[in-house]
Amino acid sequence: VALARGLRKRCPHCGRGPLFERWGRHLDRCSSCGLIYERNPGDTWFFTIIGDRIPVALAVLAIYFGVARSHRWWGVAAFVVMVALLVWTAPNRWGVGIALHYVSRVKSADPDDPVPPPEPGLSK
Ligand SMILES: [Zn+2]
Repeated sequence: VALARGLRKRCPHCGRGPLFERWGRHLDRCSSCGLIYERNPGDTWFFTIIGDRIPVALAVLAIYFGVARSHRWWGVAAFVVMVALLVWTAPNRWGVGIALHYVSRVKSADPDDPVPPPEPGLSK
């Protein structure tokens, strides 16, 4: 549930508050439930690497070893489309990164971590 909310660029805790105020800049906390998205600067770094850099690397490798060799202009076109797609979906993937970070915080149940009380009907 939390990951789907992150993918829709919504708060992973309540699903109501937006994650981003504009493209590429996430808010400090949820305007609806008060969840702090990134407790310490850089907390979501590891999850951003998973969600962001690995797909980019795979796309680059796929193009490098695949299409561009046999069909040069198809390779260029595929590259342009893929870059546009990656840029377009970046906030969604960052949202998933924030949601993964949120899930890890809920699972670790740190008493110092200001995660709001669970919402009714939220399944992890
Ligand atoms: Zn919220």
